[in-house]
Amino acid sequence: MRPEDLICPTPQGLYCPPADVYIDPMRPVSRALITHGHSDHARAGHGAVMATEETLGIMAVRYGEDFTERQQPIAFGDVVNINGVGISFHPAGHVLGSAQICLAWKGFRAVVSGDYKRLPDRTAGTFEPIRCNLFVSEATFGLPVFRHPPTEHEVAKLLESAALFPERAHLVGAYPLGKAQRLMALVHDAGYDKPIYIHGAIARLTEFYQSRGIALGDIRPVALDDRKNLGGAIVICPPSAMQEAWSRKFPDPVTAFASGWMRVRARAKQRGVELPLVVSDHADWDDLGRTIRETGAEEVWVTHGAEEALVHWCETQGIAARPLRLVGYGDEEGEAA
Ligand SMILES: [Zn+2]
Ligand SMILES: [Zn+2]
Repeated sequence: MRPEDLICPTPQGLYCPPADVYIDPMRPVSRALITHGHSDHARAGHGAVMATEETLGIMAVRYGEDFTERQQPIAFGDVVNINGVGISFHPAGHVLGSAQICLAWKGFRAVVSGDYKRLPDRTAGTFEPIRCNLFVSEATFGLPVFRHPPTEHEVAKLLESAALFPERAHLVGAYPLGKAQRLMALVHDAGYDKPIYIHGAIARLTEFYQSRGIALGDIRPVALDDRKNLGGAIVICPPSAMQEAWSRKFPDPVTAFASGWMRVRARAKQRGVELPLVVSDHADWDDLGRTIRETGAEEVWVTHGAEEALVHWCETQGIAARPLRLVGYGDEEGEAA
């Protein structure tokens, strides 16, 4: 059997012929399995969507309850059989509800990891390595230069700055799904007990996290008239809002940005970021390699990011590898919004 008999790249995305399902398809299909709620993976308009309950909830928040004709929630670890293919979902540690998808067929196992990270994050669950023959890995930060520091260090930098400049607002750009809520949890867990202010574009997803029992602290929407009074406050907003007029009403704002790309000084400078925070929801270089080894896979397919570098690394380890070059997947850590 060839791996391609079970799973193959197509223009719509990864396709499993025996089960007739697509994983994270870019275009509407009759049956989709969705790894997580980021908009490049989770699109509206499929006939049926199988995903974790949290991912289905996130899709409903973003696209409305009718984002698909049929919702099929699946719990972590349960196996659903479709035409002889055993399908199961396992935690990916990327954002709330995020999953790796395992396809087992005729003694062969393929795991599609979606996006994943290994650093602890109580808002996203803990990645579980799954033994498999074929592992499909992302490579967003698939270059040796990317080594994410402990997240607590980065949050401490933010809190130190807020204490040092009590008259200046601290505007933190963070992707609205996952990164924003993780930051709130980190700030809260670091002992910060003052209100954390948020931009309106982040409110509904934040409420969804809270509705799932995730404590984020004292979260308040920014009232437009109140911006001038928020000296010393921490304000979390979509990265795009930092360039907009909205941000200029805060007192002498310190601009911060939470992203794995902040490891590259030139990127921070180019965006006019005063306080770069290296906080990423993707595995760094060391964790990509460690994860691939832990799966025991004899073959690895690499998607979005530095595909060639990770493919080369796999080959040096005696693991067969190839870049997938799937188009349509973005990189939420670098996106403007
Ligand atoms: Zn993602
Ligand atoms: Zn992605």
